[in-house]
Amino acid sequence: MKILVVNCGSSSVKYQLFDMTDESVLAKGIVERVGSDEAFIKHQPTGKAKMQTKVEARNHEEALKAVFDSLLDPDHGVIKDIGEISAVGHRVVHAGEKFSGSVPITREVVDALIECQDLAPLHNPPNIMGIRACQSLMPDVPMVGVFDTAFHQTMPKEAYLYGLPYELYERHKIRRYGFHGTSHRYVSARAAEMLKKPYDQTSVITCHLGNGSSIAAIKHGKSIDTTMGLTPLEGLVMGTRVGDLDPGIVLVLCEKLGLSVQEVVNGYLNKKSGVFGLSNYLSNDFRDLEEAAAKGNEFAKLALDVFAYRIVKYIGAYAVAMGELDAIVFTGGIGENSFEMRKRVCDRLTFLGIKIDDAANMIKGKEMDLTTPESRIRVLAIPTNEELVIARDTKEIVARS
Ligand code: ADP
Repeated sequence: MKILVVNCGSSSVKYQLFDMTDESVLAKGIVERVGSDEAFIKHQPTGKAKMQTKVEARNHEEALKAVFDSLLDPDHGVIKDIGEISAVGHRVVHAGEKFSGSVPITREVVDALIECQDLAPLHNPPNIMGIRACQSLMPDVPMVGVFDTAFHQTMPKEAYLYGLPYELYERHKIRRYGFHGTSHRYVSARAAEMLKKPYDQTSVITCHLGNGSSIAAIKHGKSIDTTMGLTPLEGLVMGTRVGDLDPGIVLVLCEKLGLSVQEVVNGYLNKKSGVFGLSNYLSNDFRDLEEAAAKGNEFAKLALDVFAYRIVKYIGAYAVAMGELDAIVFTGGIGENSFEMRKRVCDRLTFLGIKIDDAANMIKGKEMDLTTPESRIRVLAIPTNEELVIARDTKEIVARS
């Protein structure tokens, strides 16, 4: 059974084709600059040479056509007929309160996602365009929606409500939703396997640290709290996003900078803040910041310190919120690769009885227990694999329906 996983952004289409008999990846790639005259595809068939070529992709449907052409290409392709694809799994960012798990995509599901569009105006519209494009190109192929918010639907009210008037939750659904759910779900389940404990008896704090970063408290296999909120702007200090902030600052900035709320939120809080802003606009890439900090750049050091401190603060909060803790998991580009950031965080957690094995912590991009045998709580590095989760969910749901 071959399953195509599709992740549509505003100007990109990422894809992976899985052979689910052994969960191997047959090909993966990305169409970039969708909507412009300069669209191109980067296509990587497993075991064959990579290909990059200019394509016509003025919309998501044309981009997906280019994906199919690459998958069928006599030299770089991996299938002979589009009919070999049994199902498509779509990554969708925001499902509001509608779905607490993956579902077969029906007209009602698409309508429900359109209803949530206001909650994720940057993400949901391209996700829906991707679904519609696939439906038009392969009308008889079953499709499944896998939602970033779904895994966090187990949060209790005390964790997902803001201290706002309750009517705003009732009327406008203003609440914490959380994101990166597919990643938190994958790494927490792998952590339980690595710890050789049943998932529903394991308590972990998962730190997904990438361009966007979030932490989740996962008690007995269920997300009970997470740092991102109604939108992916809340919580940790990120690459360019501000994270937690006194809302009063927005008003002060509007006044001082003579900007609208929209300009402050999009221009400053989303794009110029985080470690990028803190480092005096040096970089949002941790490789650059770590190199600059090692050479004595004070702004880079400060940015890394603030980033780490916020993580430590949330780990403390979530350890108390759960009342038990088996492991802390690092994932995402930074969590998987930056031994410096893992060390920076874990050195502040020794009072929890955490002891890092410095040699093990040097690992990059591999699963590893980073702690010494005496450590009271394990610290694990686990590369995330959201596409595999989407492919597995798609396979299971298609088999059921
Ligand atoms: P996204 O959130 O876009 O999926 P990733 O999870 O791929 O992002 O993370 C990207 C970030 O990971 C980069 O911005 C970079 O800061 C960080 N990163 C990647 N490799 C390393 C490395 N070897 N050392 C430190 N940071 C790294």
